[in-house]
Formats: sequence, C-alpha cells, structure tokens
Amino acid sequence: MVYKAKNIENLRVRQLRARRARLARELPDIEATLRGSLQSQTRRCGKRGCGCAGGEPHGPYIYLSVQTRRRRRLLYIPAELAEGVRRMVEVSGRIEVGLAEISAINIELLSRGELH
Ligand SMILES: [Zn+2]
Repeated sequence: MVYKAKNIENLRVRQLRARRARLARELPDIEATLRGSLQSQTRRCGKRGCGCAGGEPHGPYIYLSVQTRRRRRLLYIPAELAEGVRRMVEVSGRIEVGLAEISAINIELLSRGELH
C-alpha cells in the first residue's frame, strides 16, 4: 500500500510523537483484521429448464475476494455473515492506514535522529 504522509515533515518532534500516540490509541481491534474485497455476482446454474437459462440469473451472491500466497480466491459469504464481514474489511483498511501513518512518523523521527 502506498501511503502519502500528510506534511509530517513540517511537524515538530513533540507533535509527531503525540500524533503517533493518538494513532496507536485509535487503532481498531486488530483481531477484526480481514483483508479482502467484497463483490457480488449472479450465477446461472446450468440446470435444464431452470428459469436462469434465459431469464434472471440466481443471486446476487456475495463473495470475498482474498489474496493467498499464490493466487486470488473467491469465498462465498452467506447473507447473514455479509454485514459482519463488510465491517471487518472496512476495519482492516483503517488498521492498515493507521499502521502506515505510524510507520511514516517513525521514519521521519529516524531521519531526524529522534527515534528513541
Ligand atoms: Zn438456474
């Protein structure tokens, strides 16, 4: 993920440390991390005589697209889990933004000889 630090080079060391502490404090529950993206898809079942063949497809069904070490997978998400999964994906994004910002602050402190 590319993170563009917001003018942290203009902040004083004290301000950087205060911002870092606030970011760390405000990080969401990391147990809720779930990397992926939700998508919905419709399907045609292929059964002879099913209305989906010529008309409305089945669905939409919700899938979570996840990147494993080798490839991208689509996991089917039952409707009753969709809201919880959507929230976890959103929390995961906020965690990653927060971590990227803390890292950028630490790099800035390091470059000033103030990382301690
Ligand atoms: Zn069908």
